[in-house]
Amino acid sequence: MRVTLWGTRGSLATPGPEMARYGGNTSCVSVVGHAGTVLVLDAGTGIRRLAATIAPTVRRVDILLTHLHMDHIQGLGFFAPLCQPDLEVHIWGPGSATLRLQARLMRYLSPPLFPVNLSELPCKLVFHEVPCGETDIGEFRVCSALVCHPGPTVGYRITAPEGSVLTYLPDHEPALAALRFPSLPREWTSGGTLAAGADLLIHDSQYSAAEYPGHCGWGHSSLIQTLDFGTLTEVKQLVTFHHDPDHTDADIDRMMAQANEERKPVYRLTPGMEGTVFEL
Ligand SMILES: [Zn+2]
Ligand SMILES: [Zn+2]
Repeated sequence: MRVTLWGTRGSLATPGPEMARYGGNTSCVSVVGHAGTVLVLDAGTGIRRLAATIAPTVRRVDILLTHLHMDHIQGLGFFAPLCQPDLEVHIWGPGSATLRLQARLMRYLSPPLFPVNLSELPCKLVFHEVPCGETDIGEFRVCSALVCHPGPTVGYRITAPEGSVLTYLPDHEPALAALRFPSLPREWTSGGTLAAGADLLIHDSQYSAAEYPGHCGWGHSSLIQTLDFGTLTEVKQLVTFHHDPDHTDADIDRMMAQANEERKPVYRLTPGMEGTVFEL
C-alpha cells in the first residue's frame, strides 16, 4: 500500500512560514492499494489537495473518520469528488448514543455552517457506523475499535492482502486509561491491539513532556508517551502526528531530538510531515 500524509497538524489549521516544513493542514492521510482501492483517513483540511490526485477512473472512495471533531471533518465539504455523479463515496465513522453518523455530520454539513446539505451532493453517498470489528473494504481488511479520546472515537488497523499493516491513531491518550503508563500489557492498553506489530503506526504526539501535565484528559499524548506506546506495541516504524498548533518546525525538531535521545527507540521514528509518502 502507498500511504501519503496530506495533513499532520492537530486541532486547528495553522498556515505560516514557521510551520511550512511539517505543514499546517489538519488530519488527512490517503492509502492506495496495489489493486487500486482508495481509502482516506479523516477529512481535515489536507483532503483538498488529496482530491486532485484521485484518478478519474476511480469509481469508489472510502473515507474513514476516526471521530467528528472539527479538525477531522472540516475538509469534507471541500472534497471535490463529492460532486462527481458517477462516484460512490462511502463514509465510515462513529455515531453517538443518540444520533447516527449521518445525522451527526449533517450538523456541520448543512446551513448555516455550510451552504449545501450533505444529501444534496451529486455523488452516491453511503454511510457506515463504526466501530464494526473487522470488515473488508476493497482489497483491505479494516479493523476499527474505540480508543481513549473525548467522545466516540475509533482507531483503524488496515491490513493489505500481502500482509503489511498500517495503524492510524491520530487523537489518542492511552496514558489516561492507565494508572501507570505504559506498565499494563498492550491488550489492556487503549489502542494496543490495533497497533500490535504494525509496519507503520501513525500516532498522536501533540504535547512535549512538560506540556502534558497541564493537558491531562484533553485526549492527546506527549511525544514520550507516544514513543513508549510504540515500544509497547512493537511497531516497526512510528510516525508522529497531530502536531500542536503552537509548535513551530523548530519546536518539533527540538522535541524529536530530545525524545530520541531520551528513549532511543528500536523502531524507525519519523516526524509526520505533510507530503511524505510511505510504501508498505
Ligand atoms: Zn484532532
Ligand atoms: Zn479529537
